[in-house]
Amino acid sequence: MTPLMDSTNRSKMRYADGDFNRAAEMREDTAWLDEQLASPLSRVYPIWQHRFLFSDDLAPLNLSPLDAREMVGLEQAVLLGVVEEIAYFSLDISHLLEDRLPARAYDLRDVAMHLSDQMAAMLAFGRGMSVWHQDHLHCGRCGTPTAVERAGHSRRCSNDLCGRMHFPRTDPAVITLVIDGERCLLAKRASLTIPRFSTVAGFVEPGETLEDAVRREVAEEVGVTTGAVQYRASQPWPFPSSLMMGFWARATDSRIKVDGEEISEAAWFTRDDICHGLQAETLILPPEDSISRRLVEDWRILPEGEIIRGLE
Ligand SMILES: [Zn+2]
Repeated sequence: MTPLMDSTNRSKMRYADGDFNRAAEMREDTAWLDEQLASPLSRVYPIWQHRFLFSDDLAPLNLSPLDAREMVGLEQAVLLGVVEEIAYFSLDISHLLEDRLPARAYDLRDVAMHLSDQMAAMLAFGRGMSVWHQDHLHCGRCGTPTAVERAGHSRRCSNDLCGRMHFPRTDPAVITLVIDGERCLLAKRASLTIPRFSTVAGFVEPGETLEDAVRREVAEEVGVTTGAVQYRASQPWPFPSSLMMGFWARATDSRIKVDGEEISEAAWFTRDDICHGLQAETLILPPEDSISRRLVEDWRILPEGEIIRGLE
C-alpha cells in the first residue's frame, strides 16, 4: 500500500500527528516514574467517564501530581508521553460524583477542533487508554481481577495460576470513499435525522485483508461492487477503540442497493452536486475532525487524472 499523500503536502489529521514522545522505554522504569509523579512540573489530565475536563474557554484542565494524588491517588495514572522533558499523564476519576468535578467534562470530539494538534493527539491517546482500562478490569481468560502495570500500559491477571498479561487493544476498521468516474458515493446512516452523508465504514474481520474488508463493507452497506482499492491515510479513533484506515475504491458496478438497516440512503455525487447540496443545506458532510471528511475533501480538490492514476 502506497499512500498518495506525504507528510509535506497534507494538512494535519485530528488525533494523529501529535508529534510527542510516548516514552515507551520509560514505562518500566519505576525510579523515573516515581520521580515524574513527584515533580510539580509533570501534568496530569483527569478523565471522567471518558471525558476530559475543560475550562470555560475550552482549555483542558490539568493538575500537578500532588493535587491529583490528593484527589484520587496516582495508582491508576497512565503515562501518555514526554514533551520538552515534562511528563504527561492521564488519570481516571470516573468514580467521583459529577458535582465534585473541578471543571466541566466534555467529550473530546466536541472540543477537539479547539485544541492544538499535540493536545488533541495526546488526549485521544488518554481516552483510548481509559476505555481499555475500564473494559479490562477482569481477566478475559479466567475472570479474576487484573492489576495495572507498566505506567498504565498493561494489566496482569492477579490469579497466580493464570497471570496472563493484557495489553491495550485497537480495533482495525476500514473507511472508504467509493469513486465512479467523476462521482463519489456518500451514504446516510439510518440512525441520523439530519442529511449527513458520509463514507462507508466497518470493522475488519479476523482472517481478512484490509482490501477485502473494504470491498465487503461497501457491498454489504450500499450494494456496490468495487475493484481497485487505494490506501490514503489512517487516523486513531478512540471512540471507543478503533484505528480507522482510509481508502478510495473504484466502483466496477455502480448500481446502489442500501442495506436498509445501517444505511438508509446512498447516492452518487459530483463535485458540483456537493457544492450545491452544501449551499442549499440539503447535504451535510462528515464532521471536520474525521478521516471521513478528509477522504471527501481530498477527492474534491485533487485533479481527476491523479485520482484515476491512483485507482488503476
Ligand atoms: Zn487470568
